Amino acid sequence: MPSDYNSARDELKAGFVAGKCSSLEFRRAQLAGIVKMLEDHVEEIATALAADMGRPKGEAEGEAWICIREAKEASANLKTWMAPEQKGVHVMFHPASAAVRRSPFGAVLIIGPYNYPLLLTIEPLIGAIAAGNATMLKPSELTPKVADFLERRLPAYVAREACQVVTGGVDVSKALLATKWDFIYFTGSPRVGQIVATAAAKFMTPTALELGGKAPVVVHESADLQEAARRIINTKAINAGQTCIAPDYVLVDEARHDALLSCLQSEMRAQFGDEPFASKDYGRMCSVTHFDRMVDLLHQSGGEQIRIGSSSPDRATKFMPLTLIDRVPLGSPLLSEEIFGPLLPIVSYSSLEDATRTIRSVDPTPLSLYVFTRVDEVAETLMASIQSGSVLINDCVMQHMNHSLPFGGIGSSGHGVCHGRWSFETFTFPRSVLWRHGKYDIDQTVPMPLRHVSAKADPALRPVLLKMFLLYGPYFTLPKARHLVFALLAALVVYFARH
Ligand code: NAD
Repeated sequence: MPSDYNSARDELKAGFVAGKCSSLEFRRAQLAGIVKMLEDHVEEIATALAADMGRPKGEAEGEAWICIREAKEASANLKTWMAPEQKGVHVMFHPASAAVRRSPFGAVLIIGPYNYPLLLTIEPLIGAIAAGNATMLKPSELTPKVADFLERRLPAYVAREACQVVTGGVDVSKALLATKWDFIYFTGSPRVGQIVATAAAKFMTPTALELGGKAPVVVHESADLQEAARRIINTKAINAGQTCIAPDYVLVDEARHDALLSCLQSEMRAQFGDEPFASKDYGRMCSVTHFDRMVDLLHQSGGEQIRIGSSSPDRATKFMPLTLIDRVPLGSPLLSEEIFGPLLPIVSYSSLEDATRTIRSVDPTPLSLYVFTRVDEVAETLMASIQSGSVLINDCVMQHMNHSLPFGGIGSSGHGVCHGRWSFETFTFPRSVLWRHGKYDIDQTVPMPLRHVSAKADPALRPVLLKMFLLYGPYFTLPKARHLVFALLAALVVYFARH
């Protein structure tokens, strides 16, 4: 294993500088390659995810379908996204045009996490390619079958100039971070996010950090409790709780505590049967280490544990049952570190201010905020008092599936967003292009006082004019010179035709 990836980066950068990744056709061809790779190997992907994490087939295939749609939509919209955005020009700079061009960064690094190892590597890759970058992709070592799939299959469908894959563990990540990239897109824990940010700062490299956190679920007294319970249990159980935006803890109005608890239990039974161990819809912990972490959290939880069925946590199969932990005291480790597993603490609150205080003390900037309520003001009040990357009213997790919305964090849950056009923007920077005429110059021609000594204005008037122009000078666009010439010719033709 090399101690840095300078030569790999140089190869990617050379292709980028030579313009290999920039044309619309090239970008579309790579996106089509990703679609084809996924469509050709859905079965293989499901098998890899089952082997790595015990993922149910539907969940596993879902990762591929989301990526396929994302790649197709990026391809369909790419021409519009790439088009320069015309802007107004201050009167002093005319004749000129102004535009924002979304420009790629160059050689970029993507580091993925283990929990959705296909989705969270391929989705950013789609953004990076659509944006015109050359990418080094590093999947998680905790899902070796998926990492192996990406390393073997991607090169057959995507050009080497657009993407290379490197697999390996923390040592490989560290070596990659010892290399200067033009942009780093990292998805993972806040702890490693800090390591990435520190490494990037050394080279002044911009980053997007998609991190985790503790997503609170506030169940207001006005909520439909049975429906709230159905949605909370369903989304908490996806991937055995190993989802960055899984409901992390529930805050319920004191008056509805008992009723909600009974609805949650009836939903656990309805969705996973009397013996969840046997359910085909329920996944497993990724590794024994992750399983052991859950067991430790349970030992230290301090609340009452509630489960359905007779099966208890099973280390051999990494089965950790969905467990409610009622009346968890503030200060419990369950309310300080991200759970990232199927344990769901329940805490009561006496007022919305009380709930807000608790959320702020647990994690003031979660990745997501969930509110179950029928009262709009309740949702608005909580949104106003808690900062979060996203908000979902009356459900959990589903905001991630709605790709018209950006997805990302704030503060400790990260920065930078993904999904559709948002990914394209994340992997580009807004490059300003002000294009003046090479000869004609309005402040030479009329008495404009910007900078030319030859400006014809009275010296006493110049500061007054300057102030006026800076304060009130209008911004507008002019048609291109050749359009003006055509318009003039057309006017002349019409004039002579009539006379
Ligand atoms: P992780 O931070 O442990 O690992 C992520 C990647 O970082 C892996 O590829 C790993 O090789 C690398 N890495 C680990 N230790 C490193 C080190 N010391 N130096 C350099 N690189 C290192 O995360 P994980 O356990 O794979 O994933 C779970 C975390 O990711 C959770 O916190 C979850 O909330 C978060 N997550 C966030 C999002 C999001 O979109 N915001 C999505 C999925 C997961």
